[in-house]
Amino acid sequence: MSIIENIDHIRKKISVTEKRFKRRKSSVSLLAVSKTRSVETIITAINQGQLHFGENYCQEAVAKIEAINNPKLVWHFIGPIQSNKTRQITNHFDWVHTIDRIKIARLLNEQRPENLDPLNVCVQVNISYENSKSGIMLDDVDGFIEELEQFKRLKVRGLMSLPAPVNNFNKQRVPFSILKQKLQELKISRPEIDTLSIGTSEDMTAAIAEGATIVRIGTALFGPRNVKTHTS
Ligand SMILES: *Cc1c(COP(=O)(O)O)cnc(C)c1O
Repeated sequence: MSIIENIDHIRKKISVTEKRFKRRKSSVSLLAVSKTRSVETIITAINQGQLHFGENYCQEAVAKIEAINNPKLVWHFIGPIQSNKTRQITNHFDWVHTIDRIKIARLLNEQRPENLDPLNVCVQVNISYENSKSGIMLDDVDGFIEELEQFKRLKVRGLMSLPAPVNNFNKQRVPFSILKQKLQELKISRPEIDTLSIGTSEDMTAAIAEGATIVRIGTALFGPRNVKTHTS
């Protein structure tokens, strides 16, 4: 399958899944995860109307953002963040999905250029405990968000998670359901919180069933990734 066919297929699948789980039409947005993909590949997707792209590695991402240089695009940082990369990230990205340390949030806030809108951020939650050192524990989310609210150049938009992979639909739903409930609690007193960034190529349907507003899809759009050959 070509990238063009894949994009069409995933869009249709999102739309069918929204209907199946009684989600509002177009309430789920497709984030094309373009880490390791070439500028040419990204441009192919842009020509199909794809505007939101997710990247994991700062250096690789900044080179591509500058090469493509298209002000209509919305760039999302979805990888782990080292403190020596915050300036580049907050200079070039519109969103960061992987906030799990106050130190990093403080730097992104301080370094956010004056001429840009506040940086949209999601708090990364470690919901399945098994295989990831990234993300804060569910019980710490409220306190963490209260701390983030001091940062005027950040706009807290919601929660992100990357649960350990399981290949059973009902099991995939469990951690997503917990996040959905947490998001609903947070939204009560915070009208600007509207984002649940969950679901990859493997578990997109379960994520949409449980309220995803952004699904982060790489492989299903662009094919299998080669082994890591870049620097972060
Ligand atoms: C790579 C990546 C994805 C995309 O995963 P696919 O299985 O290729 O769809 C989504 N989220 C994060 C955080 C990633 O690092």
